[in-house]
Amino acid sequence: MTATVLVVDDIEPNRRLLQAKLEAKYYTVFLADNGEGAIASALRHQPDIILLDVMMPGMDGFEVCQRLKAMPETQHIPIVMVTALVNIEDRLKGLQAGADDFLSKPVDDFGLFTRLDTQMRFNMVANELRVRGKQNARVTQFSDYEKELIEAPSNVLVIDQDNAEARRVAEALKATGHRAQTWVDASGGSIEFRDLDLVIVALSNQKHDPLKLCAHLRTLKEARDFSIMVTYDPRDQSRALEALRIGAADLVSTPLEIAELQVRVRTQTRRQRYIDVLRHRVDRGMELSVIDPLTGLFNRRHMLEKMQSWMHRARAGSKPLSVVAFDIDHFKSINDQFGHGAGDDVLQAFSDRLRMNIRPKDIACRIGGEEFLVIMPETEMNLALAGAERIREAIASEPFTNERTSNPIDVTVSAGVATHQGEAEVLADFLHRADQALYRAKQNGRNRIENRAA
Ligand SMILES: [Mg+2]
Repeated sequence: MTATVLVVDDIEPNRRLLQAKLEAKYYTVFLADNGEGAIASALRHQPDIILLDVMMPGMDGFEVCQRLKAMPETQHIPIVMVTALVNIEDRLKGLQAGADDFLSKPVDDFGLFTRLDTQMRFNMVANELRVRGKQNARVTQFSDYEKELIEAPSNVLVIDQDNAEARRVAEALKATGHRAQTWVDASGGSIEFRDLDLVIVALSNQKHDPLKLCAHLRTLKEARDFSIMVTYDPRDQSRALEALRIGAADLVSTPLEIAELQVRVRTQTRRQRYIDVLRHRVDRGMELSVIDPLTGLFNRRHMLEKMQSWMHRARAGSKPLSVVAFDIDHFKSINDQFGHGAGDDVLQAFSDRLRMNIRPKDIACRIGGEEFLVIMPETEMNLALAGAERIREAIASEPFTNERTSNPIDVTVSAGVATHQGEAEVLADFLHRADQALYRAKQNGRNRIENRAA
């Protein structure tokens, strides 16, 4: 996994040490020795992550962090603040400046590389979703609603057999606005995993095997919606690594420092929500790519895909497949007489009646201006004709009322039905036969249904 890291430190040996460690693991490293240089480098190189020293002459790390988090070009880049060991005040200031994580000096390899790994894993998922959502820009613009969603407080479950410690963690998270419950609180009833964002599992102090518990949590159907963070004793790195392998998203070493924990929970929740928002956009994008925006029916592209797959299934299972091609009669004169707005209203109302008069397995598509096609899987000719007749009747039986015109508009539709003739008939020929039948319905006086065999 190759990634770029910007190392910011005013002391040269510190920079060289981190550079050597990172390059040994094949990271690409950029260096900066002061605040201004760090900001310029972040803008130019767009690193995957920034390791930022706090104590620097001139602009200190807090100010650099604040500035980077305020610029749209750099605000998405995760910042790890590198602070002197156990300096609570620094951590609180870092939290306020928008830091995503902390590392203590001297930097130990385990802490450094597990943080980089978890961040890179997140970057990979986020990049994948951005590409699938066709947002190639590294800087994703979020709507106000999405931003609010990403920043909303977390709902956390703390699992620790040490009740006092579990409560201490829960209280600290509540103090920063999150919702938190402990396993002890929940022991009276069943645990509700549905609305959780994060589960914190203590690897120490557990009667049962905590790794088994993590593995079990990942199998829950709600697991897609929450992430797991484990707390571990620094002498027990092997189990911590095992937890990451099983699917934990982050590690925090004990004894827990509350300020650090608060930052890590916030960062992990943001990552999870960020992924949720991107995933939602991908789902929505896929939906948009198959739906006709005016009528909400499937579009031509989706129709072609579904036809291919149903023709394949019809051949494999020798089940009949029928289609009905519809065309609204004299639609041009509706547009001419009442205007395009009224024309659109008619298309929408027509589509609503169409939708209400098909069977659940039928697939209704708008394939052109006033042209529609209903795919009827596992349906022979007689049933398809009956279905088409039901729709024709539903359209003709009652005029279309319209807010733009004082008088209701009379609308009728013509239809042509065709049933797939098996292996030898390709999609284009099949659709052409339905079109020919539709053409005959028009020739024979409209508001009627024809089929190829008739
Ligand atoms: Mg320094």
